[in-house]
Order: sequence, then structure tokens, then C-alpha cells
Amino acid sequence: MSFSTLENRLDRCSINTAPLGHRLPIEQPLELIARAGFGYVAPWRKDMQGRTLSQVRRHLHDSGLKVNAYCRSTFIPSATRQAFDTAIADNRKAIEEAAELQAQCFILVVGGLPGDSRDLPAARAQVAEGLAMLLEHAKQHDVALALEPLHPMYAADRSCLSTLEQALDLCEALEPGSYRQLGVAVDVYHCWWDPRLHEQIHRAGAQNRILGLHLSDWLVPTRDLLLDRGMMGDGVIDLRGIRQQVETAGYDGAVEVEIFSRDNWWKRDETEVLQRCAERLQRCC
Ligand code: ZN
Repeated sequence: MSFSTLENRLDRCSINTAPLGHRLPIEQPLELIARAGFGYVAPWRKDMQGRTLSQVRRHLHDSGLKVNAYCRSTFIPSATRQAFDTAIADNRKAIEEAAELQAQCFILVVGGLPGDSRDLPAARAQVAEGLAMLLEHAKQHDVALALEPLHPMYAADRSCLSTLEQALDLCEALEPGSYRQLGVAVDVYHCWWDPRLHEQIHRAGAQNRILGLHLSDWLVPTRDLLLDRGMMGDGVIDLRGIRQQVETAGYDGAVEVEIFSRDNWWKRDETEVLQRCAERLQRCC
């Protein structure tokens, strides 16, 4: 079911801790996010530093927030077999953390070219091999894995998965049929430009594989490839249209705000950022 707007539906919305700049110890953002009326949070592994998971879980419980996603994987493609094994081991640990935090999914940003490699197909083969290993571990811990394809401008250094189509091909290869443990996160910043976006959202929904919807906006001009994402409504993405497509395809999970903005939003007070997120979600998305 697709909602026409998100007005009065902040309970369905999530704040990824990245838009708040990771400046405060995790218990404070949790309190601020809950007080602003949001229903979910998506924390990062770095938020856990200096805390035990049971402490964080208690803070989560106190806040009343649900964890829609836990961010994120260590990059899989590696220059040596030993480094590959280390990356897989670290991701297994992260999956266990996600289980302990009762996260609805673990986000996988798979990595790009390792070392000085120019072999993109080899990197993708490593991703497929590593994912097959992680899938077993995720089953044991009952954690859903969400593959997040990234915009192709990150193919070298962050993700050799660039489109929803590629991510779904991988899901189908590793887990034929429909969703059991492996799905995708649709981040509008990464896939808004894709001429096949609508059909691939439909394909993902038909297999019940949509595990997340991430919102921000594409600014024109964009001044930094990584750290200049816009607040919803400040850019050119058809946010409401894409959200409605994703919901019409069957997704009824959290709508998450994920903005990396070094020179703008990370310089502002957390409460102001949350207020603006709440306003724009309801008005523009
Ligand atoms: Zn994302």
C-alpha cells in the first residue's frame, strides 16, 4: 500500500545517525530522534565505539526506537586471500552485532576495486563468493542482508555493485526464488538516475526483496562526490514518486533519511537537522 504523503507518519520514518554527524555519544542522538517523533533509527558500527552492545540496546529500549538497519559492511574485494578472509570475519562479527541490536537488516556496501586492480569483474566475483559465505552466517543469526547498490561514481572505491538490477541478479543467483535472507536497500541518491529503476523496483517487490528505502537529495551542482548530499526537497530527485513506487511494490518498512553533508548539515545543531528532516519528509516525500 502506498501512502500519498508522509504527513503525520513520522512513526514510519527513520533517522540514520550519519545526518547528525556522529558528534554525540549514541545515547544522545537516540533521545533526540525519539523526541522529534521518529519511529526508527539506523545506527552505524562506529556509534558503538566505547559502548557495549547491551548498553546500546538498553538506550534503544529506553528511547522506544526500533532499529530498521545497521550500517554497514566492511568492503569485501581484497588484494590478498588473507585480507579477504579478514573482511569476511569482520562482516560476520557485524552480522552478530546486528542480531544483538535486533536490527531489521544489515546494510551491505560491498566495496570496489582492491589495491591497484583494474579488474572489475574479479571484484564482483569476490563479492559473490563473500556474500555466499555471509549468507550462511546471516541465516544462523536470523539477520536479513540488504545489498545497497551505489551510484557508479563509486565503482572504484566503494561499490562494484552500481544498479538495482545488478544487486537483484546477485540475490537471485545466491538465493533463487523469493526473499528469505537476502534483499536490497533502495537509496534514491544512488539510483534516481537509472532508466530501469521503476522496472527493477517492481522486480524487487515481486520477490519481496526490498529491505530499505533511503532518502536524501541530489544537489545541482554537487560539490563533493561523497559528502555533499542534499536535504530532501533541495535537489532534483522525484522523492515522492520513487517512495510511492517502492511502496506500491510492497515495501512497508521504514523510510530512512541518510544525508552525508560535511559543509552544511554536519555543521548544524542536531535538533535543527531533525526538525528540518521531519518537515521535509512530510512536505516533499
Ligand atoms: Zn543508503
